[in-house]
Amino acid sequence: STQIQLVNRPVGWPTNADFRTVTVDLPELTAGQVRVANEFVSVDPYMRGRMNDVKSYVPPFALGETMTGAAVGRVVASATDAFAVGDVVTHAYGWRDLVQEDAAGFRVVPELPDVALSAYLGVLGMTALTAYVGLLEVARLKEGDTVFVSGAAGAVGSMVGQIARLKGAKRVIGSAGSPEKVALLTSKYGFDAAFNYKNGSITDQLAVAAPDGIDVYFDNVGGEHLEAALASFNDGGRAALCGAISLYNSTDAPVGPNNMTNIVTRGLTLTGFTIGNFWSHLPAFSAEMADWLASGQIVFDETVVDGVENAVDAFLGLMRGENTGKMIVRTGNL
Ligand code: NDP
Repeated sequence: STQIQLVNRPVGWPTNADFRTVTVDLPELTAGQVRVANEFVSVDPYMRGRMNDVKSYVPPFALGETMTGAAVGRVVASATDAFAVGDVVTHAYGWRDLVQEDAAGFRVVPELPDVALSAYLGVLGMTALTAYVGLLEVARLKEGDTVFVSGAAGAVGSMVGQIARLKGAKRVIGSAGSPEKVALLTSKYGFDAAFNYKNGSITDQLAVAAPDGIDVYFDNVGGEHLEAALASFNDGGRAALCGAISLYNSTDAPVGPNNMTNIVTRGLTLTGFTIGNFWSHLPAFSAEMADWLASGQIVFDETVVDGVENAVDAFLGLMRGENTGKMIVRTGNL
């Protein structure tokens, strides 16, 4: 099994030297175990936080151990009645091409016609569920709301925009970091307006895109984007604080929003959340998303990097914005 391990805790931007690739010989299966050939492995922004040795909602990655995280694959050997060879399973054993563990660590998922298994890491998995609960449960989207989402061409953001529209938002606005992504937001994902946050003041660009203000802000980015949303909010506005990727590799002291008084005077609600507390919504989400995909009401993109040995490059590419939609690593076990 080829596996990627964290060997140093990065300060600022991680580099390849913070990781190593190891080859592990898997022992014979013992009773109750299964062996899975991963087909797709996920790289996600939250992994940057786990590389730091700090107290957080998930413990830090251990140095010298294989990187954990979401993956999907197929059972290739089983020593338990609970799994048969060929079953498709998701699990959290992360950056490796083969995994062998106790059956309890795996969950069987259905193989859907015309949908690649990578969907379980994105549009049918954690990132789209995050969009769904963040928008509907945390920000409590109402019909007629104007919604702004940052990181709008990414895995979470591209779902937020489309779900907002399907759930009756009046106007959906997104920001992203390249002209190609901005074009995609309006041409493919149904956003009403979009802008490139690298093209000048975010506050000014949002004010132009949202002449009547915003009611909901889905924050993937933090920093200047949150500042801009606070300036644009209408009375009673609600923010779902999902992530702050503009800060994850920064070694500067974070700059707080200056528009704090708007929280008071406009009666705003800013609510942070982590998806781990919302897994109970998975069945409702899965059913609704399956319908949206089957009817073509939701579309999605994936950016695929080949080779589990390139997982670090895929992760760094994600942090740099090289992905459109979900960043995925394909192992070659197909
Ligand atoms: P994305 O697919 O959105 O990929 C990350 C994107 O972030 C990049 O493509 C890049 O797009 C953008 N980005 C990078 N640096 C900056 C910057 N300085 N300013 C603005 N944008 C930047 O990742 P995900 O959809 O997986 O995650 C999106 C956010 O949601 C992250 O903050 C993540 O931590 C958070 N998250 C939170 C969860 C929770 O439970 N709370 C669960 C899942 C995700 P561009 O080219 O546009 O710059």
